[in-house]
Amino acid sequence: MSADYDIIIIGAGPAGYVAAIRAAQLGMKTACIDRWLAADGKPALGGTCLNAGCIPSKALLESTEQYELAANGFAGHGIRIGKLELDLAAMHARKQGVVDRLTRGIERLFKGNGITWLQGEGKLLGPGKVAFTAHGKSRPEELASDHVIIATGSTPIELGGAPLDGTVVVDSTGALAFDEVPKRLAVIGAGVIGLELGSVWRRLGAEVVMLEAQDRFLPVTDGEVAQAALRLLRDQGLDIRLGCRLMTTRVGKAEATLDYTDGEGKSHTFKADRVVVAVGRRPLSDDVYTQESGLLLDERGYIHVNEFCETNLPGVYAVGDVVRGAMLAHKGSEEGCMVVERIAGQSTTLDYGCVPSVIYTQPEIAWVGRTEEDLKTAGEAYHKGVFPLAASGRAQARGETDGFVKLLASAETDRILGAHIVGPGASELISEATIAMAFQASAEDLARTVFAHPTLSEAVHEAALAVGQRAIHMATGRKRQG
Ligand code: NAD
Repeated sequence: MSADYDIIIIGAGPAGYVAAIRAAQLGMKTACIDRWLAADGKPALGGTCLNAGCIPSKALLESTEQYELAANGFAGHGIRIGKLELDLAAMHARKQGVVDRLTRGIERLFKGNGITWLQGEGKLLGPGKVAFTAHGKSRPEELASDHVIIATGSTPIELGGAPLDGTVVVDSTGALAFDEVPKRLAVIGAGVIGLELGSVWRRLGAEVVMLEAQDRFLPVTDGEVAQAALRLLRDQGLDIRLGCRLMTTRVGKAEATLDYTDGEGKSHTFKADRVVVAVGRRPLSDDVYTQESGLLLDERGYIHVNEFCETNLPGVYAVGDVVRGAMLAHKGSEEGCMVVERIAGQSTTLDYGCVPSVIYTQPEIAWVGRTEEDLKTAGEAYHKGVFPLAASGRAQARGETDGFVKLLASAETDRILGAHIVGPGASELISEATIAMAFQASAEDLARTVFAHPTLSEAVHEAALAVGQRAIHMATGRKRQG
């Protein structure tokens, strides 16, 4: 049977839609299957990231940051305003406008690249064989394709102690759409999503209590960054309680009563009018393949792949949240590009040690590469350079002086091994370190680069200088030759 397509991609999130565009650029006859239906019932491209994740959350984070600035920050700049009012409906409408513009943008990119958008369910039947059931149809049609990429993403993990009811107890999607500001918001899980959504509602006036099971705040981040971020976020009013285990949630008409135990095993009870469960996400792999296909998964439901995202089946690949590695949109997009470029005969690889992460709190938290704890555990000698933003002219002018830039470099080769930032603009600053690492730069390379003044980027330059104990705008407390 001749193939209907050169490549079929199941899932049109950032991993799948980017793979589809790249495949079409490389001349492949491409189809992308996606089942997402927006709130208005219409099919939409972009997956969780565009429709219910990265983009709407960033729109709300941006709006609420402006609100908080108007409430508390303007006076310091000598700007007085009258009574501040919140129009939450308008804020949500703006958020939706951002989402709609971007999802329609992908639609146009699909059209422009000649990609076939198949709206409905896709299921792998075996190498080169996919069942497609269009929305509203019950019978699947069988499609043949030389290559198949599974990019079905992830879904929130549910918690036995806090079953979702969609009104009082919600997941991250529900927490992006509260139609009024909760008086008291409980957030279960002080990870990336919990911190971002907790910040949104705190800025609008909610009292936010966050229960986190682990004793160490943000264990994936560098210890010094985690400590600083915890202090700053608590100072803002996020009541982050570490080492706490949620036992039960009793849901009344408009509020919930939560029972939890703290790190010492003591029981506590408190009430909240909304509860957000943000305890992680799991791969969405359950219904994307048939048993007969022979596709191999690991014990946690991730589709098993090698470093090139090849599954155990010939011509079948999987990328993004549905495979091992950090659940990050950009990691999925790059995996998608790698797979199609390799299909096209290129020798593309992905450096998983050089993928940046960002938490969009205020200040932002961003990192790439190895942490100090990693290096200590591995017994690798390193030098570190830390530069506080309080010593940056631009940070002072902006009135945002909390945080620092920290660079870690090999003691042997001076190669940059990691960068860790907590501070304003960290999401953008981290790319400077990422580019340097991608080019295998040394701290000396960055130290000898000219940075514009006055910019926040100078803090990256100064941190690189600090690796060699020669930061200019910070006393090092010791004399140094050379
Ligand atoms: P996460 O793993 O970042 O955080 C979940 C937190 O919940 C962890 O700290 C965990 O210890 C805690 N937890 C687990 N069970 C618990 C329990 N029973 N009681 C209390 N705490 C509990 O996961 P997330 O925040 O849900 O995000 C999911 C994924 O999506 C992550 O991989 C994240 O990187 C990704 N994401 C990234 C961004 C971004 O790049 N800015 C934004 C959103 C999500």
